Order: sequence, then C-alpha cells, then structure tokens
Amino acid sequence: MTVYQHAALITVNDNFDVIPDGSLAMEGAYITYAGPYREFEEAEIIDCTGKVIMPGFVNGHIHMPMVLFRGIADDLRLQEWLSDRIFPLESKHTEKTQLDGAMLAALELTRTGTTTVNDMYYDGDIVARALKAAGLSGTVCSCLIGVSGNSDRVLAESLELAEKYRNDPDIRTSIAPHAEYTATAAQLEKWARAAKDSNQPIHIHCSETQSEHEECIGRHGLTPVALFEKLGILDVPAFLAHCVYVTEDDMEIMKAHGSAALHNPCSNLKLGSGIARIPLMIERGVNIALSTDGASSNNTLDLWEEMRFAALIHKGNLRDATAVSVNQALYLATRGAALALGYPDRGALKAGLRADFTISATDAPTFRPITDIAHLAVYSGNSRDIEMTVSGGRILYDRGTYTMLDKEKIYADCQEDYEKIFR
Ligand SMILES: [Zn+2]
Repeated sequence: MTVYQHAALITVNDNFDVIPDGSLAMEGAYITYAGPYREFEEAEIIDCTGKVIMPGFVNGHIHMPMVLFRGIADDLRLQEWLSDRIFPLESKHTEKTQLDGAMLAALELTRTGTTTVNDMYYDGDIVARALKAAGLSGTVCSCLIGVSGNSDRVLAESLELAEKYRNDPDIRTSIAPHAEYTATAAQLEKWARAAKDSNQPIHIHCSETQSEHEECIGRHGLTPVALFEKLGILDVPAFLAHCVYVTEDDMEIMKAHGSAALHNPCSNLKLGSGIARIPLMIERGVNIALSTDGASSNNTLDLWEEMRFAALIHKGNLRDATAVSVNQALYLATRGAALALGYPDRGALKAGLRADFTISATDAPTFRPITDIAHLAVYSGNSRDIEMTVSGGRILYDRGTYTMLDKEKIYADCQEDYEKIFR
C-alpha cells in the first residue's frame, strides 16, 4: 500500500469534499482511502505537505493523432479548415505518422493530468497502442465516413477492434460515425444496429455548427439529435460531440436516452462555431463530458485549461457570474465526464475507485495565499503545477520524468513527420 500524506484533496466525491489535510491510500490499481489525515502502518508513506491531489481528468472527445497538425491549420472557418486543410493532410497519414501523433498526444495528456480519453480517429488500434504504451486508458474507434466509400471495410475493422480489446482492462471501443453530414441515413441506421449487436457505444459529431445543424433539418426535416433518435443511434450509450446548436427538445431526447454531450469550449471558440448551452443542459440533467477536441482546433489537449474556459465562457455569454460554478467545472472535467462516458469506476478520489489522480505543487504565486483549494485550482491553477500523474496506481510522470514514454524520441519522430510528410 502507498499512502500520500498531508495533501490537500479535491475529491469531487458526492459532497464535493475539499480536505485541507488529507490522506490518499492506494493498493494496486485502486484507491483504498481518501479522506481526512489518518495514520497508516506498514505502508509506503509519501509526504505531500503543500501539495494538491485531484482526480485525473477524463477527456470526452479527442482526436489524438491530430496533434501533428498543431499550428498548421489556424484561423480558418470549420468547413475550410476541414475540407481544404485537415482532410488533405490526413490523406497523407501513414501508420507511422498516426502512431507518432498518438504518442505525442499521450505525452501531453500525461503531462497535463488526463488519464482517460474518448478518442475518435481513423485507426483505433493505433490509438489503443499509444494509450497502452503510455499507461493511459480510454475508448477508441475507427471512424466511419460514409462518403469515403470505404465504410464497409472500416465497419468490419471496427468489429474486429471490439473483439481484440473485449477483455482489455484499459481499452474500450466504440462505433464512430464521423457525423450526419458525412453519411446517409441508411448508413447511420446500419451502424447503429452494428453498435447494438456488438454491445458498443456510439461516438459522433453533432450540431457543431449552425450550418451543419440547419442542413440536417433541410435534408431530413429533423435536427441531428432527433434524426439520431429515429435511426436508433441513441438506443446505445451515445457520445455526441459539441452539441452547440441542440434545441431544448433535443436536450429532452438526450436526457431520456442518457446520451452525453461532449463539450469542447476552446475548439468551438477557435473554429468560430459558437458556445454550447451547457448551463441549460446541466439544469435539464443532460450528461456532459468536458473535452478538448483535436489539437489542431484548440490547440492543446490540456483539460485543466479547458476547465477554466468552461467556468468562464458561459458567465460571459449569459452575463451571469453564477453560470458553471467551481464544483460544476471540476465535475465536467472529472467525475461527470467519467459517468457520462460509462466509466463509473473513476473520476473522483474515493475508496474503491481507480487510482487515477494528479499531484500538484502549490509553490506558484498563483496558488497563494492558500484559501479554498478547489477555487484556486479552477480559476488560478494550471497544468504546469502538476508534479505527478498516476493512472491505475502507476506513476506515469514524476517531476519532469516520464516513466513510460521517451519524450526525445517522440519529439524527433513527430518533427520528422512534419518535415518529410506534412510540411
Ligand atoms: Zn472532433
């Protein structure tokens, strides 16, 4: 047993307890105690005086290999960004470049305190390999693009992927139609059936831009969410990325089916898509997971930063300083995201849950004076304060050292990919 003593704990448990002088004990992959300080015998004791422990972040929507396009597709409208830059760049991807990108993303996730992701990219096996190499966990998929003409093959691969990882403790799979506008209704219906038959959730982009939302109504006479309901997509756990333009009726449908809204505040700002009505969705009881989207539309995978954005933009947008409180922002980034994505075993500091957490220093002036540590974390803390990242009881990052990943090799591989392939 390992015990972290005298740390401040931001538990994100059912009472949102913040414990100024706490103990966190773990055995194997699980937390065995998280509460006020107490003594433990026959344990490895680590003194954490002056440190903050919080749950590892859970990222609801990410495209890990897209980190390779960071900084080379900026200041463009979404349709231009996608059609003129991203799709052509992605057509040059090889297995090596996808893996290199996924490894760089894994490095960034480790450094910035995310321990679980819900990824969408072309080859879920490559992303799964990177997650496993990094000691992280998550849900992966091979994205289905109906208009590409190869979706039957990709669907077969998706089913093989599900079989391959069926009993893996760290990797789950989803069926992932890219979006309504890149598939026919018949294709979407077929994929929904495949998800149901293979007992997998669905991950799909939904109502990200106003034009996408309205064009769907033009084509089908229904909003994307209503169409998804009609086609059976919401009959399985459905993870709906963005939901910027969902209507109040859509929110009722999502709540009734337990579908999750994946909230990407920075990406929605950067691509000029808009601001999702998260406070209203919280009020209506819709499941929500905070997310970064890919690094070419953010441009980081830093969920701590995203948490601050989530706590700020809705206040400005609604001219209401009470919108998205500290506890709500923390919940969207940790426990709420975990529950929305079907991971009830993580996202809080609580006995019995997976030992996924970060330890941060409070040395930075932005963490002083030490007042309410949860408020400090959300509004003035920063992922650069993280000293240690632990996933499933394994230390992945410790004060500058990555225990699972070779940073220099990953940097060199990705630079080579840029110079030789994507420049
Ligand atoms: Zn996306």
